[in-house]
Amino acid sequence: MFSRLLPNQYVKSIYDIDLFSLKDRGIRAVITDLDNTLVEWHRAEATPEVKEWFAKLEETGLNVTIVSNNSEKRVKEFCDPEEKVFIHSAKKPRRKAFKRACKQMGVRTDEAVVIGDQIFTDVLGGNRAGLYTILVVPVTKTDDWMTKLNRRMERFVLRWMKKKGHINWED
Ligand SMILES: [Mg+2]
Repeated sequence: MFSRLLPNQYVKSIYDIDLFSLKDRGIRAVITDLDNTLVEWHRAEATPEVKEWFAKLEETGLNVTIVSNNSEKRVKEFCDPEEKVFIHSAKKPRRKAFKRACKQMGVRTDEAVVIGDQIFTDVLGGNRAGLYTILVVPVTKTDDWMTKLNRRMERFVLRWMKKKGHINWED
């Protein structure tokens, strides 16, 4: 029942992802969530750290698409200054946007990873689409109302993951 909700990796932030080992394993592209994965959901622009991370992706030879359930206005405002390709209103956990992102980047689904902060959108959707999934701890603890609802169910899954030994750090 839970297997579709389990990420392949769970890390504290995008900066803890070992890009070189992804590359070594044949990964060529990254599909990342925006809100609370790259920056706080209310922050309009990329931070210097995020800009640096984008540069690292490029250096490593990893293509990137930002896939967000948020509106065109929000996602475009963030992505345009960074010259990043995006899909807005993605309706995650539906598979369609993930598949489209892979197709646009010219990679197979087993050559891409999904990075996100939500189990019920990013991880579930990525797993359903056959992608390698990486869950990160949300950048900020505040959320919009819809996300708040998801978080309640998430806490349940996270407790279960912890019990099963899928989480390797202390809170
Ligand atoms: Mg998010």
